[in-house]
Amino acid sequence: MRQYSRRSILRLGAALAAGFGLDRQYGRAIAAGLEKLVTQEARVLWLQGMNCTGCSVSLLNSTDPGPLDLLTDVLSMAYHSTLSAAEGKVASGVVDKVIGAGGYYLVLEGAIPLKMPKACKVNGIPLTTILQTACRNAKAIIAAGTCAAFGGIPAAEGNPTGAGSLKEFMDKEGIPTKGRLINCPGCPMHPEELVGTLAYVLAKGLPELDPELLTPALFYGHSVHDNCPRFHYWQKHEYAEKFGDPGCLFKLGCLGPLSHTNCPQRQWNGGVNWCIRAGSPCLGCTSKEFAKRRDFPFYRKGEQVHAVAYAEQDRGSKLQ
Ligand code: SF4
Ligand code: SF4
Repeated sequence: MRQYSRRSILRLGAALAAGFGLDRQYGRAIAAGLEKLVTQEARVLWLQGMNCTGCSVSLLNSTDPGPLDLLTDVLSMAYHSTLSAAEGKVASGVVDKVIGAGGYYLVLEGAIPLKMPKACKVNGIPLTTILQTACRNAKAIIAAGTCAAFGGIPAAEGNPTGAGSLKEFMDKEGIPTKGRLINCPGCPMHPEELVGTLAYVLAKGLPELDPELLTPALFYGHSVHDNCPRFHYWQKHEYAEKFGDPGCLFKLGCLGPLSHTNCPQRQWNGGVNWCIRAGSPCLGCTSKEFAKRRDFPFYRKGEQVHAVAYAEQDRGSKLQ
C-alpha cells in the first residue's frame, strides 16, 4: 500500500480544489478530510440501489488519485457492492457488521423502489430494509448520482416500482435528513465531486447546501450555462442549427441553463473534454427532472421550453 505523505495529501487537496475553481482555503479543508480517509479514521459504506453502476465506473475513472490509489489508500471503503471481493453471506456479514458498529459515511448509488421493495435486494434482503438502519447509524450520507439524488432514469415516467430518491425514502421512513444528507447528482456523478464532498464533510462537517436540492454549493452553485465557453454566442443570439456548427447549442436542445454543476471548469476524464466542448448539448444530467418526464427528452431540437424561463432572466429578451 502506498503511503501518502502530508505534502502529497496537501497537493491532492489543492489539485482537487483547483479543478473545481475553488480557492486555497477549500484545498486545505479537502486535504484535512483526505488525511482522515487515508489514515482510516473514517470508513465508507457504499451500497447500490436501482442503478447501472455507472457512478462506480465513474469513480474508477478518477485520475488524481487514480482508481487503485483511490480504493486502496484514499477511501477507506468498508464495503462496496460491486468492488468488494466478498459475496453472499460473507458480504452480508460485512455489511451487518459495519452498520452495527455505526460511525461510517454512507454512500448510496441508485434509486430506491419505494412502492415495490422486493424489486431491489442486496444479498437477498430488500435494500429498503437495509437502509432503515444504514441511514440511521451513518454519520453522514451522500446520494451519489442523479438516481440516488432525484430518482433519475429508474424513476422515468411509468415507473412501476415507484423508484425515488434517498431523500424521499428517508422522509417516508421518518429518518432525519437535515445536516446529514448531501446530494451529489450527475449521470454519472463526477468522481472528484464525490471525493471532494466526502473530504470536506470529514474536515469541516456539512458544506453549505442548496435548500431544495441538497447539493453542495461548492460544486453545484452555478449552472453549466453560467460558465459555458459558448455563452458569448448565447448573448449575441448566434445559435448552432446543426451538430458541428459553432454557436450556442440551445436550439439543439441544450439544457445547460437548468443543470447546476461545474463541468465547464473541471471537465471529465481528467480534464480531457466535456459535453459542450465536444459539440453535444448539455443533457441536464444533474437536474432534478433528468430523464424523468417524457417532455424532458435528452435531445429536443428546436424546442423553447424549460430553459427559456431561466434564460430570459439573464438575457432579458426573447429567443428569436
Ligand atoms: S444554452 Fe448551452 S451551449 Fe448555449 S451558452 Fe448555455 S450552456 Fe452553453
Ligand atoms: S455538461 Fe451537462 S450533461 Fe454533460 S456532464 Fe455536465 S451536466 Fe451532465
